[in-house]
Amino acid sequence: MLKGRTAVITGASRGIGAAIARKFAALGADIAIIDYGNPDVAEATRKSIEELGVKAKAYLCDVTNGEKCKETVKSILDEFGVIDILVNNAGITRDNLLVMMEESDFDAVIDTNLKGCFNMIKACGRTFIKKKYGKIINISSISGLIGLPGQANYSASKAGVIGLTKAVAKELSGKNVCCNAIAPGFIQTDMTKDLDTEAYLASIPMKKLGTPEDVANVAAFLASDMSDYITGEVIRVDGGIAM
Ligand code: NAP
Repeated sequence: MLKGRTAVITGASRGIGAAIARKFAALGADIAIIDYGNPDVAEATRKSIEELGVKAKAYLCDVTNGEKCKETVKSILDEFGVIDILVNNAGITRDNLLVMMEESDFDAVIDTNLKGCFNMIKACGRTFIKKKYGKIINISSISGLIGLPGQANYSASKAGVIGLTKAVAKELSGKNVCCNAIAPGFIQTDMTKDLDTEAYLASIPMKKLGTPEDVANVAAFLASDMSDYITGEVIRVDGGIAM
Protein backbone atom coordinates (compact mmCIF):
# COMPACT_ATOMS: atom_id res chain seq x y z
CA MET A 1 0.00 0.00 0.00
CA LEU A 2 2.92 2.41 0.69
CA LYS A 3 5.66 0.70 -1.30
CA GLY A 4 8.04 3.19 -2.91
CA ARG A 5 6.94 6.02 -0.60
CA THR A 6 9.14 7.83 1.92
CA ALA A 7 7.57 9.00 5.17
CA VAL A 8 8.90 11.51 7.69
CA ILE A 9 7.39 11.00 11.15
CA THR A 10 8.10 13.35 14.05
CA GLY A 11 8.16 12.02 17.60
CA ALA A 12 8.53 8.52 16.18
CA SER A 13 10.87 7.06 18.78
CA ARG A 14 8.01 5.81 20.94
CA GLY A 15 4.25 5.79 21.50
CA ILE A 16 1.88 6.66 18.66
CA GLY A 17 4.70 7.90 16.38
CA ALA A 18 6.61 4.60 16.66
CA ALA A 19 3.41 2.63 15.92
CA ILE A 20 2.78 4.78 12.83
CA ALA A 21 6.39 4.26 11.70
CA ARG A 22 6.11 0.48 12.12
CA LYS A 23 2.74 0.35 10.35
CA PHE A 24 3.99 2.40 7.39
CA ALA A 25 7.15 0.23 7.20
CA ALA A 26 5.05 -2.95 7.25
CA LEU A 27 3.15 -1.49 4.28
CA GLY A 28 6.44 -0.88 2.43
CA ALA A 29 7.40 2.75 3.11
CA ASP A 30 10.92 3.93 3.86
CA ILE A 31 10.99 5.83 7.14
CA ALA A 32 12.78 8.91 8.49
CA ILE A 33 12.22 9.08 12.24
CA ILE A 34 12.47 12.48 13.88
CA ASP A 35 13.09 12.47 17.58
CA TYR A 36 14.13 15.01 20.18
CA GLY A 37 16.34 13.88 23.03
CA ASN A 38 16.17 10.11 23.21
CA PRO A 39 18.73 8.74 20.71
CA ASP A 40 18.89 5.24 22.27
CA VAL A 41 15.11 4.78 22.12
CA ALA A 42 15.08 6.19 18.57
CA GLU A 43 17.84 3.77 17.52
CA ALA A 44 15.94 0.78 18.94
CA THR A 45 12.80 1.87 17.03
CA ARG A 46 14.86 2.46 13.87
CA LYS A 47 16.30 -1.06 14.09
CA SER A 48 12.86 -2.63 14.57
CA ILE A 49 11.65 -0.76 11.47
CA GLU A 50 14.67 -1.77 9.38
CA GLU A 51 13.96 -5.40 10.29
CA LEU A 52 10.70 -5.02 8.34
CA GLY A 53 12.81 -4.77 5.16
CA VAL A 54 12.68 -1.03 4.46
CA LYS A 55 15.19 1.79 4.77
CA ALA A 56 15.06 3.62 8.11
CA LYS A 57 17.10 6.47 9.52
CA ALA A 58 16.76 8.51 12.73
CA TYR A 59 17.33 12.28 12.95
CA LEU A 60 17.63 14.36 16.11
CA CYS A 61 15.60 17.51 15.64
CA ASP A 62 13.68 19.77 17.99
CA VAL A 63 10.55 20.61 15.98
CA THR A 64 10.19 23.94 17.80
CA ASN A 65 13.31 25.14 15.94
CA GLY A 66 12.38 26.14 12.38
CA GLU A 67 15.97 26.37 11.16
CA LYS A 68 16.75 22.88 12.51
CA CYS A 69 13.61 21.49 10.81
CA LYS A 70 14.80 22.99 7.50
CA GLU A 71 18.29 21.45 7.91
CA THR A 72 16.82 18.06 8.90
CA VAL A 73 14.45 17.95 5.92
CA LYS A 74 17.41 18.80 3.66
CA SER A 75 19.41 15.90 5.16
CA ILE A 76 16.44 13.56 4.67
CA LEU A 77 16.09 14.64 1.03
CA ASP A 78 19.85 14.12 0.50
CA GLU A 79 19.59 10.60 1.97
CA PHE A 80 16.21 9.39 0.64
CA GLY A 81 15.87 11.55 -2.52
CA VAL A 82 12.20 12.23 -1.90
CA ILE A 83 9.58 12.86 0.80
CA ASP A 84 6.00 11.75 0.04
CA ILE A 85 4.39 11.68 3.50
CA LEU A 86 4.81 13.91 6.56
CA VAL A 87 3.30 12.92 9.90
CA ASN A 88 3.41 15.68 12.51
CA ASN A 89 3.10 13.59 15.65
CA ALA A 90 5.60 15.10 18.14
CA GLY A 91 3.72 16.48 21.11
CA ILE A 92 3.91 17.22 24.82
CA THR A 93 1.59 18.00 27.71
CA ARG A 94 2.18 20.41 30.63
CA ASP A 95 -1.20 20.09 32.36
CA ASN A 96 -2.40 22.40 35.10
CA LEU A 97 -5.44 24.47 35.95
CA LEU A 98 -5.32 27.71 33.98
CA VAL A 99 -4.88 29.99 37.00
CA MET A 100 -1.88 27.93 38.12
CA MET A 101 -0.37 27.42 34.67
CA GLU A 102 3.08 28.91 34.12
CA GLU A 103 3.44 31.06 31.01
CA SER A 104 6.47 28.93 30.09
CA ASP A 105 4.28 25.79 30.12
CA PHE A 106 1.75 27.47 27.85
CA ASP A 107 4.52 28.50 25.45
CA ALA A 108 6.27 25.10 25.45
CA VAL A 109 3.07 23.26 24.52
CA ILE A 110 2.09 25.72 21.77
CA ASP A 111 5.66 25.74 20.41
CA THR A 112 5.93 21.95 20.24
CA ASN A 113 2.41 20.91 19.29
CA LEU A 114 1.40 23.75 16.97
CA LYS A 115 4.50 25.63 15.82
CA GLY A 116 6.28 22.29 15.38
CA CYS A 117 3.66 21.31 12.76
CA PHE A 118 4.05 24.68 11.03
CA ASN A 119 7.85 24.36 10.99
CA MET A 120 7.78 20.88 9.48
CA ILE A 121 5.07 21.65 6.89
CA LYS A 122 7.02 24.74 5.87
CA ALA A 123 10.24 22.74 5.60
CA CYS A 124 8.57 20.04 3.42
CA GLY A 125 6.12 22.27 1.53
CA ARG A 126 8.27 23.14 -1.47
CA THR A 127 9.24 19.54 -2.18
CA PHE A 128 5.56 18.49 -2.12
CA ILE A 129 4.56 21.39 -4.41
CA LYS A 130 7.43 20.65 -6.85
CA LYS A 131 6.49 16.97 -7.04
CA LYS A 132 2.75 17.67 -7.11
CA TYR A 133 2.30 14.97 -4.49
CA GLY A 134 2.13 14.94 -0.73
CA LYS A 135 0.24 13.55 2.22
CA ILE A 136 0.40 15.60 5.42
CA ILE A 137 -1.09 14.07 8.56
CA ASN A 138 -1.25 16.15 11.72
CA ILE A 139 -1.93 14.48 15.06
CA SER A 140 -4.42 16.66 16.92
CA SER A 141 -6.52 15.43 19.86
CA ILE A 142 -10.10 15.33 21.10
CA SER A 143 -8.81 17.89 23.63
CA GLY A 144 -8.67 20.32 20.69
CA LEU A 145 -12.24 19.46 19.68
CA ILE A 146 -14.08 19.57 23.00
CA GLY A 147 -11.56 21.23 25.40
CA LEU A 148 -10.44 19.45 28.56
CA PRO A 149 -10.02 20.99 32.02
CA GLY A 150 -6.39 21.26 33.07
CA GLN A 151 -5.32 21.41 29.42
CA ALA A 152 -5.88 25.03 28.34
CA ASN A 153 -2.47 25.05 26.67
CA TYR A 154 -2.85 21.59 25.10
CA SER A 155 -6.48 22.11 23.96
CA ALA A 156 -5.50 25.45 22.38
CA SER A 157 -2.52 23.86 20.60
CA LYS A 158 -4.56 20.93 19.27
CA ALA A 159 -7.45 23.18 18.15
CA GLY A 160 -4.77 25.26 16.42
CA VAL A 161 -3.54 22.13 14.64
CA ILE A 162 -7.05 21.64 13.20
CA GLY A 163 -7.15 25.24 11.90
CA LEU A 164 -3.66 24.82 10.46
CA THR A 165 -4.70 21.54 8.80
CA LYS A 166 -7.66 23.18 7.04
CA ALA A 167 -5.69 26.25 5.91
CA VAL A 168 -2.88 24.07 4.52
CA ALA A 169 -5.44 21.76 2.85
CA LYS A 170 -6.96 24.77 1.07
CA GLU A 171 -3.56 26.20 0.08
CA LEU A 172 -2.10 22.97 -1.27
CA SER A 173 -4.99 20.89 -2.60
CA GLY A 174 -4.50 22.40 -6.09
CA LYS A 175 -1.00 20.88 -6.02
CA ASN A 176 -2.31 17.39 -5.21
CA VAL A 177 -1.18 17.68 -1.60
CA CYS A 178 -3.68 16.41 0.98
CA CYS A 179 -3.57 17.61 4.58
CA ASN A 180 -5.67 15.88 7.22
CA ALA A 181 -5.73 15.54 10.99
CA ILE A 182 -6.35 12.69 13.40
CA ALA A 183 -7.91 13.43 16.79
CA PRO A 184 -7.11 10.56 19.16
CA GLY A 185 -8.91 10.12 22.46
CA PHE A 186 -7.18 8.36 25.35
CA ILE A 187 -4.44 6.15 23.92
CA GLN A 188 -2.16 3.89 25.96
CA THR A 189 1.31 5.54 25.79
CA ASP A 190 3.82 7.21 28.13
CA MET A 191 1.73 10.39 27.82
CA THR A 192 -1.26 8.79 29.55
CA LYS A 193 0.47 6.28 31.84
CA ASP A 194 0.04 8.44 34.97
CA LEU A 195 -3.63 9.24 34.34
CA ASP A 196 -6.33 7.75 36.52
CA THR A 197 -7.77 5.83 33.56
CA GLU A 198 -10.62 4.33 35.61
CA ALA A 199 -12.02 7.85 35.93
CA TYR A 200 -11.98 8.31 32.15
CA LEU A 201 -13.33 4.88 31.18
CA ALA A 202 -16.85 5.81 32.29
CA SER A 203 -16.94 8.64 29.73
CA ILE A 204 -15.73 6.51 26.81
CA PRO A 205 -18.68 4.87 24.99
CA MET A 206 -16.49 1.89 24.00
CA LYS A 207 -15.34 1.54 27.64
CA LYS A 208 -11.68 1.02 26.78
CA LEU A 209 -8.57 3.04 25.97
CA GLY A 210 -7.20 3.04 22.44
CA THR A 211 -3.88 1.59 21.35
CA PRO A 212 -1.18 3.33 19.31
CA GLU A 213 -2.03 0.82 16.53
CA ASP A 214 -5.63 2.12 16.41
CA VAL A 215 -4.21 5.54 15.47
CA ALA A 216 -1.58 4.05 13.13
CA ASN A 217 -4.30 2.27 11.10
CA VAL A 218 -6.04 5.57 10.33
CA ALA A 219 -2.71 7.26 9.59
CA ALA A 220 -1.95 4.48 7.08
CA PHE A 221 -5.29 5.09 5.35
CA LEU A 222 -4.60 8.86 5.16
CA ALA A 223 -1.06 8.23 3.89
CA SER A 224 -2.24 5.89 1.15
CA ASP A 225 -3.88 6.44 -2.23
CA MET A 226 -7.12 5.11 -0.69
CA SER A 227 -7.71 8.60 0.76
CA ASP A 228 -6.80 10.59 -2.37
CA TYR A 229 -10.06 12.59 -2.39
CA ILE A 230 -9.97 13.49 1.31
CA THR A 231 -8.40 16.72 2.52
CA GLY A 232 -8.98 19.13 5.42
CA GLU A 233 -10.67 16.32 7.35
CA VAL A 234 -10.36 15.49 11.06
CA ILE A 235 -10.84 11.84 11.93
CA ARG A 236 -11.49 10.95 15.57
CA VAL A 237 -9.95 7.75 16.95
CA ASP A 238 -11.49 7.95 20.39
CA GLY A 239 -13.93 5.11 21.12
CA GLY A 240 -16.73 7.62 20.63
CA ILE A 241 -15.81 10.00 23.44
CA ALA A 242 -16.11 13.24 21.42
CA MET A 243 -19.16 12.41 19.30
P1 NAP B 1 4.73 10.20 23.81
O1 NAP B 1 4.70 8.72 24.03
O2 NAP B 1 4.98 11.10 24.98
O3 NAP B 1 5.79 10.51 22.64
C1 NAP B 1 5.98 11.84 22.22
C2 NAP B 1 7.04 11.86 21.14
O4 NAP B 1 7.21 13.24 20.73
C3 NAP B 1 8.40 11.36 21.60
O5 NAP B 1 9.02 10.65 20.55
C4 NAP B 1 9.16 12.67 21.85
O6 NAP B 1 10.56 12.55 21.69
C5 NAP B 1 8.61 13.54 20.74
N1 NAP B 1 8.83 14.97 20.98
C6 NAP B 1 8.41 15.71 22.04
N2 NAP B 1 8.85 16.98 21.89
C7 NAP B 1 9.54 17.03 20.72
C8 NAP B 1 10.23 18.05 20.04
N3 NAP B 1 10.30 19.31 20.51
N4 NAP B 1 10.85 17.76 18.87
C9 NAP B 1 10.80 16.50 18.36
N5 NAP B 1 10.17 15.47 18.97
C10 NAP B 1 9.54 15.74 20.14
O7 NAP B 1 3.35 10.71 23.20
P2 NAP B 1 2.17 9.94 22.42
O8 NAP B 1 1.14 9.61 23.42
O9 NAP B 1 2.73 8.89 21.55
O10 NAP B 1 1.60 11.15 21.57
C11 NAP B 1 1.91 11.36 20.20
C12 NAP B 1 1.01 12.45 19.66
O11 NAP B 1 -0.35 12.08 19.82
C13 NAP B 1 1.18 13.79 20.38
O12 NAP B 1 1.04 14.85 19.48
C14 NAP B 1 0.01 13.80 21.36
O13 NAP B 1 -0.36 15.10 21.72
C15 NAP B 1 -1.04 13.10 20.52
N6 NAP B 1 -2.12 12.52 21.29
C16 NAP B 1 -1.87 11.55 22.23
C17 NAP B 1 -2.93 11.01 22.95
C18 NAP B 1 -2.74 9.94 23.99
O14 NAP B 1 -3.73 9.59 24.67
N7 NAP B 1 -1.55 9.35 24.13
C19 NAP B 1 -4.24 11.49 22.73
C20 NAP B 1 -4.44 12.47 21.79
C21 NAP B 1 -3.38 12.98 21.07
P3 NAP B 1 11.50 12.05 22.94
O15 NAP B 1 11.34 10.56 22.98
O16 NAP B 1 12.84 12.50 22.55
O17 NAP B 1 10.95 12.73 24.16
